[in-house]
Amino acid sequence: MARILTKVKVEKKPFSKYKRIIKAETYNSLIGEGKKLKKFSVLHINSTCAGGGVAELLQSQVPMERSLGINSNWIVINGDSEDMFFSITKKIHNLLQGGKGLLTENEKKLYVRHNTNAFPALKSIVKDLEPDIVVIHDPQPMPLIDALPRGIKAIFRLHIDLSSPNARALNFIKPFGMKFDRLIVSNDRYRPKWFPKAKTEIIYPAIDPLLPKNKILPSGAARALAKKFGINPDDKIISQVSRFDPWKDPIGVIRAFNIARKKVKGLKLILIGSVAGDDPEAKEIFAEVKDFENGDPDITLITKNDNTLVNVIQTISKVVLQKSLREGFGLTVTEAMWKKKAVIGGKTIGIASQITDGKNGFLVSSIKQAADLIIKLVEDPRLAKKIGLSAHKTVQKNFLTPKMVLDHLKLYSKLLK
Ligand code: UDP
Repeated sequence: MARILTKVKVEKKPFSKYKRIIKAETYNSLIGEGKKLKKFSVLHINSTCAGGGVAELLQSQVPMERSLGINSNWIVINGDSEDMFFSITKKIHNLLQGGKGLLTENEKKLYVRHNTNAFPALKSIVKDLEPDIVVIHDPQPMPLIDALPRGIKAIFRLHIDLSSPNARALNFIKPFGMKFDRLIVSNDRYRPKWFPKAKTEIIYPAIDPLLPKNKILPSGAARALAKKFGINPDDKIISQVSRFDPWKDPIGVIRAFNIARKKVKGLKLILIGSVAGDDPEAKEIFAEVKDFENGDPDITLITKNDNTLVNVIQTISKVVLQKSLREGFGLTVTEAMWKKKAVIGGKTIGIASQITDGKNGFLVSSIKQAADLIIKLVEDPRLAKKIGLSAHKTVQKNFLTPKMVLDHLKLYSKLLK
């Protein structure tokens, strides 16, 4: 049987590589903060090392913290062989984002028991790594807080939209949540009322400009790669990169596409969504989407997990959609904005923290609005370009990994004082 906790191997990445990309001030602050934390150890815990935004963040955050001199490590909690644990945690996730339903007593027990089963493994990891700070990401591994010895500072990093949660589900996680020393959210509206504001930090997620997914591809290279992946770069492509998840509204995207293509001849849609290890619901939603598009030759569904492919699709798209109905933040939006794309995003708290409607992207609340904007932007490349340039500047200023890591380092220092 697979181990219940696994340590994730991270790539080595010298921090000096970021020097030419970020402001000297941020670069020097990071070196300074890193020096203060040299003796310290940090342990991040989440539930998957591939697929989804949290894995994406940690893949860059952990190596960056390490290259700044901190002994930063990352472990994941694995599911059980029947996938019961992740079905339940996905249900908790959906309820916390405002979905309908009820957790059964049995599901609650199984969730807690699976975490409790991981206590011995965690205790041995803690003994070995001696972390001063443990950061638990999202609710899946939340009950692990009970296995941490006194003296370790515990941070809960919440990545989902908790602005209108199912009250009972929120109540269920409350006893665990109350034990944390700090909460990190990207918007104060996500802070549960029972968690003190004074112990809450607002930190934005961010993208790593040096990852293959985010490296800016010159047009010629993007076109050549597209052909290699079997995509015609001359097509009028619009796309959405997302897990197959009801909150990402893939069916809504297809409906908007169906309206827009009546006006824009030759329009094509690509939906790409690899299946994250902690998301058993994705297969179901993918089947629904496939059923709905019904073999449409102008729609391509891709489930391949390939960072370069994601980059190429975002780069060659005329317009990028992220028609989410709820979105904690939406790194896919950041990624596309970085590539100077005009993004049409669902009017959600997460996407609205990145897009100012009409300035560096667009926010929509309906399929019709999305369709109208697709038509407008595909037919007016100059407008799309102007919006894309403004989008790139927003990301450069606010949403690159070094800034996010700097915010974390400052918080670690504060906690360890
Ligand atoms: N992603 C990917 N391949 C896919 C779908 C998503 O690599 O087929 C990545 C995407 O590029 C982004 C992350 O998964 O980096 C999704 O993060 P986001 O915050 O947008 O949403 P989440 O999945 O965390 O809800």
